[in-house]
Amino acid sequence: MTNTNDKRYNVYSQYLKRKYGEKVYKLPINLPVTCPNRDGTTGCGGCIFCGEEGAGFENLSNELSVQHQIDRNMQYIREKYNAHKFIAYFQNFTNTYLPLEDFKKYILEACRPNIVEISISTRPDCINDAYLHFLNEVRKKQGVEISIELGLQTVNYHSLTKINRGHSLAEFIDAVLRINRFPFETCVHLILNLPWDTMEDVIENAKVISALGVKQIKLHSLYIVKNTVMGEMYQKGDFSIVSLEEYIDRVITFLEYLSPDIVVQRLIGRAPEENTLFVNWNTSWWKIRDRIEEEMEHKDSRQGKKFDYLNGKAVKKWT
Ligand code: SF4
Repeated sequence: MTNTNDKRYNVYSQYLKRKYGEKVYKLPINLPVTCPNRDGTTGCGGCIFCGEEGAGFENLSNELSVQHQIDRNMQYIREKYNAHKFIAYFQNFTNTYLPLEDFKKYILEACRPNIVEISISTRPDCINDAYLHFLNEVRKKQGVEISIELGLQTVNYHSLTKINRGHSLAEFIDAVLRINRFPFETCVHLILNLPWDTMEDVIENAKVISALGVKQIKLHSLYIVKNTVMGEMYQKGDFSIVSLEEYIDRVITFLEYLSPDIVVQRLIGRAPEENTLFVNWNTSWWKIRDRIEEEMEHKDSRQGKKFDYLNGKAVKKWT
């Protein structure tokens, strides 16, 4: 569905309202899982920016059952917002990095009344056909939508090596093509200001994501966590972080090259301030979001403005 709302980009909350007929809330679920990039399977030490608690931080303890976590969060949100529909969001670490039988058990536990969607965050090298076929059965039998969030961060495979991602671009392409065979949503996480990436990489990010038919994206700015490899590099002055103005410019340029059909979950992450050396230029995430939106208005910019490069651009004049 193209961007028909009043914003200059395809806003996730409005997309959810169109899809489910009302506001839908995410319930984070924390599983006792780790990551193959930490336990030596594909790498050791993890991505150089990743703190011990994994990529998410707003979770209940993973010692609580899935059912308990859902019930507790659902009750709280239901009372606070009079909410009726929820997404069970498996957020932390790599949620498909589990034996298939364990994964099945956790997913089925999340199929509870008022859960309309199950969202699973993972790495491109941790999804395969067996997991996808199982999820498709769940979709059909339980009547829930499935969305899969893939951490990528950048399409620049040289930068993927520098951040010790443990996979390259090819694994990401493979994962998206496999997921696309099912009626699932894909969401890709990107960091638009990795120190080694330029505006050229930002544009290529938008073009590759659009060409692959990804359905949703989530943008984050880089935050630097204490006691990580990146934290040490930052303290030694091995790299600098682009200015907030440059980040805003990168986001707007990214959106202009992005297909207008892609839903934008976030323009900037809500990062924790504890244990960090640098977060969002000491500015609230929503102030940065507002500045991006104001700047888009000012420049008469919109998502997809420069989305003219697919389907044989050079021969368009003859067809
Ligand atoms: S893939 Fe995610 S959880 Fe694993 S090391 Fe990287 S950021 Fe951390």
